[in-house]
Amino acid sequence: MSIGKLIVLSGPGGVGKSTIVKVLKTHPEFFFSVSATTRLPRPGEVDGEAYHFVSDQEFDSMIQSGEFLEWAEFAGARYGTPNAPVDAALALGKNVLLEIEIAGARQVRSKRRDALLVFLEPPSFNELEERIRGRATDSEERVKARLALAREEMAAANEFDHRVVNHRVEEVVEALVSLAARQ
Ligand code: 5GP
Repeated sequence: MSIGKLIVLSGPGGVGKSTIVKVLKTHPEFFFSVSATTRLPRPGEVDGEAYHFVSDQEFDSMIQSGEFLEWAEFAGARYGTPNAPVDAALALGKNVLLEIEIAGARQVRSKRRDALLVFLEPPSFNELEERIRGRATDSEERVKARLALAREEMAAANEFDHRVVNHRVEEVVEALVSLAARQ
């Protein structure tokens, strides 16, 4: 039986990871892991599709029973990747894509030597700042906090196997498809 590739897509908040994932979901060669999170659903998010929305207690018991490949705290909520569906999909020869933040990517690196870690970079920090400021609902204080976090996250880029600049969505999608197909 062939074994699929475990691919981690990470990068600073606001860089556009979720747009890339939306396009990749139309590619049958990828299996997408559904994370568990303690944050509340946003309008339109369906339990079991966007995330498994769980309580703090449920998340604690998932940690205790060793269900997570990795988990991390981000913006006041916890997020984690359940092991079982990832292993099942890899065993079926599927490429599994995890769209996670950087602390989680580091845990995958230490547990799965064969994982491919991809860092999505903005064309420049100014462009990232524009994107972050474009989320008009955030207060100036929140924008400043997000920018400070993004600077820290950008410093992790050299820990990754591949860096892909998000000039155009199609280019990034193509880069990921060809990384997945590489022997
Ligand atoms: P959001 O709340 O906007 O959906 O996601 C916030 C951040 O959490 C994003 O950077 C996303 O990549 C990250 N994230 C989503 N699921 C997981 C997960 O299972 N593990 C980790 N470590 N990060 C996750």
